[in-house]
Amino acid sequence: MSRAYNFSAGPATLPFPVLERAQNELTDYQGTGMSVMEMSHRSAEFMEIIQSAEADLRSLMRIPEDYKVLFLQGGASMQFAMVPLNLLSKSHRADYVNTGSWSKKAIAEAKRYGAINVVASSEDKNFSYIPQLNPGLFTANADYVHITTNNTIYGTCFPEIPDTGNVPLVADMSSNILSQHYDITKFGLIYAGAQKNIGPAGVTIVIIREDLLGKAMEVTPTMLNYQTHTEADSMFNTPPCYSIYIAGLVFKWLIKNGGIDAMERRNREKSGLLYDFLDNSSLFKGTVSKESRSIMNIPFVTGSDELDAKFIKEASARNLKTLKGHRSVGGMRASIYNAMPKEGVEALVEFMKAFESENG
Ligand SMILES: *Cc1c(COP(=O)(O)O)cnc(C)c1O
Repeated sequence: MSRAYNFSAGPATLPFPVLERAQNELTDYQGTGMSVMEMSHRSAEFMEIIQSAEADLRSLMRIPEDYKVLFLQGGASMQFAMVPLNLLSKSHRADYVNTGSWSKKAIAEAKRYGAINVVASSEDKNFSYIPQLNPGLFTANADYVHITTNNTIYGTCFPEIPDTGNVPLVADMSSNILSQHYDITKFGLIYAGAQKNIGPAGVTIVIIREDLLGKAMEVTPTMLNYQTHTEADSMFNTPPCYSIYIAGLVFKWLIKNGGIDAMERRNREKSGLLYDFLDNSSLFKGTVSKESRSIMNIPFVTGSDELDAKFIKEASARNLKTLKGHRSVGGMRASIYNAMPKEGVEALVEFMKAFESENG
């Protein structure tokens, strides 16, 4: 068997021990004679799976008691609608920071439901930085402020979380949840699709402060109302059972490996290897301003489309897979989520050195 170093932005690489355990339990989950895929979501076994997944996530992220954790479907993209439907409850105004394609999609969707003010944007420089946010920018009576903590496509990350005072802060954390420590009390709501740093596609995690519940617009479909799901412990209808099971295994793997603080240290070390090389390379260069660099998604270019294509092809032949950049940045992008071993980044940097001396 050979495992590639898979730098895909999402769906992305999963921890090998998690896949092995899932393989062992695939056809007979702990003596039940059935797969988790085949099991009633109301069974004692599945209840244990979802409850321990929630408990482990709470302990990993230090989620306070007055926040609910939900396992939903529809991806982060569904949250682009659920957030305004549920939270545009008083002034029907919200502030959004535009830091890339996903922010733009969130803004476009929210505009269907209320007055949306884009308070800052980095579109002028193809989203290669995070704009400065001072508290004076925000609308005093906004129902919430929305940010995208890590911009998967452009490789930027908020260096600090803005202070929005009493206005709840909502964060799309799809591509950096669990990669570094965040103080949950700074947020009213956090959401993340699973397929970057949590598990397989199909489950979306929402962490919501309780006082934000129960205010959804009249027109909100039952399935899109957070309260529907908090009241039913994410079991209003059949949840994405298998994705939740794998996410739960990933949480256990994270706990076993030292939790988020240890992950953050490793992620800074891993991304540091690549950034140090990029900063000193005569051929490759990063595309993001230094203060805004992501430790999860690292885009880089040679400046020549031809060389970029050659690099991607030769890297793939050496088992360094899915390095092609997103079309809106071009070049390459290495996504190095929690599950990417340090050896993978080392192998990438080694290959970049060799490629540079041959083609530089
Ligand atoms: C991938 C991604 C999304 C879209 O997620 P889906 O689960 O495919 O809807 C949204 N926001 C960010 C930051 C992402 O990385």
